[in-house]
Amino acid sequence: MAEVGSNLDFRAELASAAAEAGLMLRQDQLERMSRFQQLVLGWNQRINLTRIVDDREMAVKHFVDSLMLVRYIPMSRTTRIVDVGSGAGFPGIPLKLWDDSLSLTLVESTRKKADFLRIACKELQIEVNVVNERAEEVGVDPQHRESYDLAVARAVADFPALCELCLPLVRVGGWFAAMKGPDASAEIDTGRRALNLLGGRLSELHTYELPHEMGSRTLVLVAKASPTPSAYPRRPGVPTKNPL
Ligand code: SAM
Repeated sequence: MAEVGSNLDFRAELASAAAEAGLMLRQDQLERMSRFQQLVLGWNQRINLTRIVDDREMAVKHFVDSLMLVRYIPMSRTTRIVDVGSGAGFPGIPLKLWDDSLSLTLVESTRKKADFLRIACKELQIEVNVVNERAEEVGVDPQHRESYDLAVARAVADFPALCELCLPLVRVGGWFAAMKGPDASAEIDTGRRALNLLGGRLSELHTYELPHEMGSRTLVLVAKASPTPSAYPRRPGVPTKNPL
């Protein structure tokens, strides 16, 4: 397949955008993230992975935004991570390329995207568990239920539905991080009932600016305070159709 985009341009964009966000990337991290960008762009010609294809925009809106989690979450105490609705691999894969010692599971319901994720991880030589199922099914599977230190999700569903997709996967004492747009306050208000029912407690809200004035984002951090009742998650599709 033809090489797409400019590797060197992307690396420079990523290095400077990450530095602007207070994150210093080593050469080996830049190289692996750049290789991942090439894989996303190459596959994007065949399957719909992302509408963002410009080097600078990809560096900021996909990679730096994914890495912002390391500024707010103590990753050293967060070894088992599940990325729900991972799509092209954001935020999960940049986090794994940042710190290879993290144990990462990607949950993605679309088969072609899950195939891409498996191939990309093989190419990048990173050990990642890719689960091609709906989060509602994964959340009732004893292999996954309440077994992660951190569940993350970006651009997957509104906050109340997202709580039902993610909180059943988190162990008591762990965290759920919802990566949202500039203003998440209305969504959070409608999610209070869901949080109570599912064993979550709103913990922190961080608003940050992306480099190059590419907009602001909100990170909603929820603590898993008590076990999720066995009635949740409900059947596939119900959390989004009929949010708690
Ligand atoms: N997280 C990525 C990002 O920020 O670029 C992808 C976002 S994309 C808009 C949402 C993804 O979530 C899609 O790939 C979709 O297939 C997946 N998805 C939606 N609902 C899901 C569910 N219930 N279980 C698993 N994956 C789901």
